[in-house]
Amino acid sequence: MNSPKTPSPEPQSAPLWGRARHELGWQGLTLRVPLEWNPGRVAGKRDRGDLRVDDPDGARLELRWETPKNEVNIEKTVENFVATLAKQAKKEKRPFTSLGDLNLVSKHKKGKNRTVSFGWTSDNSGSAPCGFGVAWSCPHCERVVVAHLLGQNHEAPRRVERTAQEILQSLDCDGHGGWDMWAAFELSLDIPEEFPIARSQMLVSKLDLEWIRPRPIGLYGWGRRAERLRVQRFPVANVLLEGKPLDEWADWNIAFKNKTLSLSRREDEEASVNGHEALVYRGPVRDPRARISVLFFDLILRRKTPQTRVLVWRCEESNRIFAFESEMSLVNEHIPGDVLESLACH
Ligand SMILES: [Zn+2]
Ligand SMILES: [Zn+2]
Repeated sequence: MNSPKTPSPEPQSAPLWGRARHELGWQGLTLRVPLEWNPGRVAGKRDRGDLRVDDPDGARLELRWETPKNEVNIEKTVENFVATLAKQAKKEKRPFTSLGDLNLVSKHKKGKNRTVSFGWTSDNSGSAPCGFGVAWSCPHCERVVVAHLLGQNHEAPRRVERTAQEILQSLDCDGHGGWDMWAAFELSLDIPEEFPIARSQMLVSKLDLEWIRPRPIGLYGWGRRAERLRVQRFPVANVLLEGKPLDEWADWNIAFKNKTLSLSRREDEEASVNGHEALVYRGPVRDPRARISVLFFDLILRRKTPQTRVLVWRCEESNRIFAFESEMSLVNEHIPGDVLESLACH
């Protein structure tokens, strides 16, 4: 597997409307949005799912993707979508004007087939006075992607259109060299495509994301485990720690509270992440049956499957605590290091 090739960070484009931007990444889709926009709802998988991006006042952007079996008529898809919106407005006795294909993003958007954009306006009596969007089919990831950006009632449609143009232009669906960037709530890291997301808890008190590549099916999977990557982030480190040292906090909150792993802190091991000294925990799964089959095959094959490792560090700059858990087969042992290299905690 290749190492992640994070594209060199784009020069911070002059923020439109004086608002800073940040990057969001989800299921291989990436885009640049205002800093206060973040995932509000996520559903589905890489081949089919949706993501709603919210700002503090409500929904701002709906992203939907699907992997159709047959070729899809994008023009028709967009037409149907706009017709549904029109019908809804009629039911609510609101005006509705379709603005047609506005060329919000270039028709020949890099590597995409048939890019169609759309726009509509209504009045201020409903949940949104206007909306702008784009749809395309992508020959690389084989998905159809639809993005729909909503205006809010205090915003003029003209202004929303320009914001939409900028944001939709930044939208892409292709990852880079087999790696996807996952980014939300100021956390950003690269994960290999073959590791589907299995947990995405995004709370004010804790961010907890986990990717699991299932154990191979059949003979090949014997004596092997599922491979996992998990990152947890806890805010306001100084409040959580209450003046106590990090190891005391982590022994309880990361090791003791872990229901699947029997972790212990390795005093003899050192690690550093992004310039921070990290505590190292290791340990086997608590379930003895899962342990035995791996041990058995390790013995026969004279290999040593690496134990699950958890690194815990405090980032003073962001006042957060991070825990990074990895469980890998021998051949993929380099992956956690590559992922950590892509993770910027501050
Ligand atoms: Zn794509
Ligand atoms: Zn940091």
